[in-house]
Amino acid sequence: MSEARSTVPSPSPAAKRAGADPGERATAAETPIAKSAPQKAMEKLGLTRDIDLALHLPLRYEDETTLTPLGQARDGDTLQCEGEVIESRIELRGRRQLLVKLRDDDGALLTLRFLHFYPSHQKTLAVGTRARVRGEIRVGFFGREMVHPSFRKVEADTPLAASLTPVYPTSAQLPQAYLRKAVASALRRAPLDEVLPQVLIPRGLPPLREALNFLHHPPPSAGLSTLEDHTHPAWQRLKFEELLAQQLSQQRAQRERAHLRAPMLRGAPGGLHERLLAALPFALTGAQRRVAEEIAADLARSQPMHRLLQGDVGSGKTVVAALAAAVAIDAGWQCALMAPTEILAEQHFRKLIGWLEPLGIRVAWITGSVKGKARQKMLDAAASGEATLVVGTHAVIEDKVRFHRLGLAIIDEQHRFGVAQRLALRKKLADEAAGAAATAGPGVPPGSGPLEPHLLMMSATPIPRTLAMTYFADLDVSTIDELPPGRSPIVTRVFADSRRDDVIEKIAAAVDDGRQVYWVCPLIEESEALDLKNATETHAELGAALPGKMVGLLHGRMAPAEKAAVMSLFSGGQMQVLVATTVIEVGVDVPNASVMVIEHAERFGLSQLHQLRGRVGRGSVASVCVLIYTGPLSDTGKSRLRAMAETTDGFEIARRDLDIRGPGEFMGARQSGAQLLRFADLQEDAPLLSAARALAPKLLDEQPRAARLQVERWLGHKTEYLKA
Ligand code: ADP
Ligand code: MG
Repeated sequence: MSEARSTVPSPSPAAKRAGADPGERATAAETPIAKSAPQKAMEKLGLTRDIDLALHLPLRYEDETTLTPLGQARDGDTLQCEGEVIESRIELRGRRQLLVKLRDDDGALLTLRFLHFYPSHQKTLAVGTRARVRGEIRVGFFGREMVHPSFRKVEADTPLAASLTPVYPTSAQLPQAYLRKAVASALRRAPLDEVLPQVLIPRGLPPLREALNFLHHPPPSAGLSTLEDHTHPAWQRLKFEELLAQQLSQQRAQRERAHLRAPMLRGAPGGLHERLLAALPFALTGAQRRVAEEIAADLARSQPMHRLLQGDVGSGKTVVAALAAAVAIDAGWQCALMAPTEILAEQHFRKLIGWLEPLGIRVAWITGSVKGKARQKMLDAAASGEATLVVGTHAVIEDKVRFHRLGLAIIDEQHRFGVAQRLALRKKLADEAAGAAATAGPGVPPGSGPLEPHLLMMSATPIPRTLAMTYFADLDVSTIDELPPGRSPIVTRVFADSRRDDVIEKIAAAVDDGRQVYWVCPLIEESEALDLKNATETHAELGAALPGKMVGLLHGRMAPAEKAAVMSLFSGGQMQVLVATTVIEVGVDVPNASVMVIEHAERFGLSQLHQLRGRVGRGSVASVCVLIYTGPLSDTGKSRLRAMAETTDGFEIARRDLDIRGPGEFMGARQSGAQLLRFADLQEDAPLLSAARALAPKLLDEQPRAARLQVERWLGHKTEYLKA
């Protein structure tokens, strides 16, 4: 079992000093008592079941199926050869190194050079040993040489590899050789029988077992290019499998929802809903009216709504949310509205109070910073049902918060909530609905299935169509595709940091014209302190450059009351310039502000930049967004700034963002640790996606067992995340 075989990585000098020897570690690793480092590393990569290992596919391959006679080797070739060690010595001149001389059967010579080495290298490559080595050959003045080749001891008749050798994605604690063995044995054990009837598999694609055997151990004749660009039919089969599992899981979730019950919420004639509409200081846009009707129709059904309301920044989602809340309240139920930050939650709170309190609605306010007696009062109001609308941050979904009869939950800027928070929220909602007051509430449909509140999510970052078709198949989408009238377009300008003084001069002129300015300072995630320093310095700098004007500062470390005071000076118009860290990132609404300056724009993501820019352009004055960058810009940095300068359309921005970042990051999948699609690419594999989408309902209807097996095989424990 323990063939001495070293694959490329050599010990670091530090490891060498400590006397660590990977050979020894590898033997220790095979004793089953405690989990070895490689085993733990495998777990960390999510490789726990045989099927997970079988689906862990090579990045590339090495050809160890042939031996090249040294006499035929050319400079720069990567090759495998074999010979007898005729000399082994440690050279001390210059750098300490191990030199091993090898002679092949034709008598040609090769020097192996190891700049880092363990005692086990010398032991394995002792004089008289026959060794098989693989690496890149250099032919120079002193003859042929390989630096840090992989090598192993062989006999004259040791067979060559029959297939290409896979190279797997791995981590530092998991040696390639260990992983190879683990995959090969898992591949023999893994349950890979077809779950899909042959007729349903797109034509020309091999059975799964065959495809996987091929991809892990392709024959030497396999075309490397089709393997590497993933166009080979074996790859196509894998991608199809993955897309199908994903479609099945989404469509299944959608069907499960159809069996849940929800209170049927209808606004009463002459009720709150109508009175709110009448009291608004503006008329709804056509788009707002349309989405409000879509939502009202969902609320009246006996299954829980699961709808995403998307609309660009400033498109007026808040009032649509308020109208939905009014329907729920009219029907005798409570509504919870959550926003990702305190500032945003507070803005909603003020706006909703302004609209709803005059109509006799009690609104409660729950965030992390509301404490003590005030908090208790809010909690009581929510629990008794006296507060029919509860607004706040994620504190609203804490265990301690109880509702009397929760019928509708609204989440603003839903993509800003983490996956774990979204899961917690759904669990909380399900628990809430189990309450006695809820089960006996008005509009509860007959039946005994579980009861859930309706759920409305709102986002200014529209989901591109391909994503909507895949990850959000279990979500109905309403889109506000029209801005309220009277908005003037935002002009975006990009400046290098070297022109900062020019920018400040322009800001001074704008302020003299009576305009209000946001100045956003960089986000340096690693250091909140640095972040703050930057904002403080800019605050001082602008204060000095604008004598007689009020320049305010807003950052994440300020107490909520302080923040509120600053915000109210700015929204009241007494303060001309507001220097802020990214706390103003989402949702803040001050219609009179018409200039947005973003420093170190290269450090922000595209959707963040778009969100920030959306803080201006809300009134009738022409608005400007100034992006200041510090070079040199990376390619993605350049594409982001270019996108910002070229378009203000949120959908176009989202499309480009997806291009730049790829779906995984776009979805914020990073934070969940769950990679969503490993093999398939939504754009490239659109035909496979359509096939999977069409097949999924058929399987769910006719072959439910096959459907379940397919999802388990591919998604295992990840299905929970996909639903969130
Ligand atoms: P977002 O969709 O970004 O959340 P908001 O709901 O904050 O947008 O709305 C942006 C601004 O537009 C607010 O000041 C809001 O009162 C105003 N607004 C919303 N709908 C209309 C409308 N139909 N006509 C005029 N102004 C509107
Ligand atoms: Mg908003």
